[in-house]
Amino acid sequence: MVPARDIESSTAVFQLVDSTEMLSAGDSEKIVEGPVSLLGDQKHISILCSDSLARLSDLVPLARSVCDAVVLNTRNRCTLQGKTIPCCEGCSTCCNYLVPLSIPEVIHVYEEIAALPAQLGHAFWGNSLRVAGQLLDNDTDHVPNGESSLDQVGQWYAHKEAACPFLENNLCALYDQRPLACREYLVATPASWCRPELVGRVEKIELPFSVLECLGKAAAQLEGTPVEAVMLPLILPWIEENEDRIHRKWSSREMAQCFLDNLAPRQTYFRPHRHADATLTAQ
Ligand code: SF4
Ligand code: SF4
Repeated sequence: MVPARDIESSTAVFQLVDSTEMLSAGDSEKIVEGPVSLLGDQKHISILCSDSLARLSDLVPLARSVCDAVVLNTRNRCTLQGKTIPCCEGCSTCCNYLVPLSIPEVIHVYEEIAALPAQLGHAFWGNSLRVAGQLLDNDTDHVPNGESSLDQVGQWYAHKEAACPFLENNLCALYDQRPLACREYLVATPASWCRPELVGRVEKIELPFSVLECLGKAAAQLEGTPVEAVMLPLILPWIEENEDRIHRKWSSREMAQCFLDNLAPRQTYFRPHRHADATLTAQ
């Protein structure tokens, strides 16, 4: 495991700002901005960047803010259409499903847990390793291979009946830090239908774009890798194999521009990468 002392503290490197806000002359030079289409609505996004170099992990608070705004916009639109979305904190059947994390999120969630009191952090990692064993033990041959859709990987995962390691007494123990995949998963059918045997009846709400996919693609462009995602219980093994990637840095303006450029609709197909690490790559 990467020792906690190696973790660099993250202050807010990127900040969503209202473009009508009065900014100082110095700040206006640090703004990256552009239009984003939300189901026909053109929104303008302005990101205030710090002067410092930044790491992939630093993009996550920004991505969470954008994701929450997209989800709120979609919820409001659904309400106007007369749809009810039952998803809320404490509703947790979907916490037994696949949660893919983009690479920046893998690093960020790792760092958030590393910053917790040691006893709590150890409990999370213990749960994660137990679930990781449940997923991969004696079954690496059956992890979907070749070009598999996220749905196919999701079905394989659902059969494992592996509850999320962060689920405690049917509540998310890291709700404020929950991954983008959890934030983006919304349905317009009753919560009681969220069971594997009723999957065909569930109406999933499509967001105008997936911030998870956009962040994954931006990270891949910055690192010069394929688009990858990691199953949530496999954070620790990924960190152990990829410690050098935690510390890579770019100019914060370059990173914000790359993230903004990728905020667009796109269909992603994930496939497991190599045999045992269960990193998923997308094409
Ligand atoms: S997807 Fe289903 S189980 Fe998950 S929060 Fe929404 S209603 Fe609840
Ligand atoms: S991180 Fe939280 S919301 Fe997401 S699957 Fe795990 S317990 Fe559920």
